[in-house]
Amino acid sequence: MSPPTAAEDAANLLWIEVEDVRSNPHHDQLGRFSSADGVRASLATAASVGEVDSVLRGELKSITGRDVDVNQAGSDLQIAREHAEGILRVAERFPDARLHRVATYGPGGSSQLHPPDTSQYALTGKGTSSSAIYFNTHYAGNADRYRQAMENDVNVGWHPKSGHSAVGTGAHEMVHVVANGRPKAESAARATAQTAAKQAGASTVKQHVGRSIGGYATTNKAELAAEAVSDVILRGKAASPLSHDIFDQFDRAQT
Ligand SMILES: [Zn+2]
Repeated sequence: MSPPTAAEDAANLLWIEVEDVRSNPHHDQLGRFSSADGVRASLATAASVGEVDSVLRGELKSITGRDVDVNQAGSDLQIAREHAEGILRVAERFPDARLHRVATYGPGGSSQLHPPDTSQYALTGKGTSSSAIYFNTHYAGNADRYRQAMENDVNVGWHPKSGHSAVGTGAHEMVHVVANGRPKAESAARATAQTAAKQAGASTVKQHVGRSIGGYATTNKAELAAEAVSDVILRGKAASPLSHDIFDQFDRAQT
């Protein structure tokens, strides 16, 4: 069965990502540049965005068994590699992820999904049977701008440390895809945070989550789960104890 078209995605999917960039109150303070995170050899040696797309398509087919439509047109080459790496790291841990598309929107992007804007790095659209990830070329197409914004997000405590590279963005979006197939997973994440905040004697759950993970994780239960689970996958033991507790409950919430 072929995946739905991008136009069908625009009409049918429920879009999530709550103003990832604009709602960061410190977004205009520029941080220092980060170095690129490591990507697997098959992606590092891909010489064009089209080759990165082919590698990602092949790896996703072998990991998940699914045919995924991949087109990161308008993306910087290294950023495309990093987005692909993040998606694959989560797919390897959660091969039940139901993804049908990886695309781009904005100037030079592969879809007309959304009017060009600067408010999100990416969007995940959830459908009834599968999900789609769209990266914003305002960032994906301008590596310097994107890396400055991401580094700043980490420096001000908006994202955990894995959020300093595009690997983190790809992984974060892919956790939303996994959660779409696990209806109880996000509520389990929230319940875990509530219990942990009480045990820690924090005055509010928001305060505990903000200090342990980051500001974006306090937005809602979907972002809480995406931030915690992606940070554990990318940073392992360096992720916070709360993120590990959330990961364990998310992992158990199979249905
Ligand atoms: Zn998100």
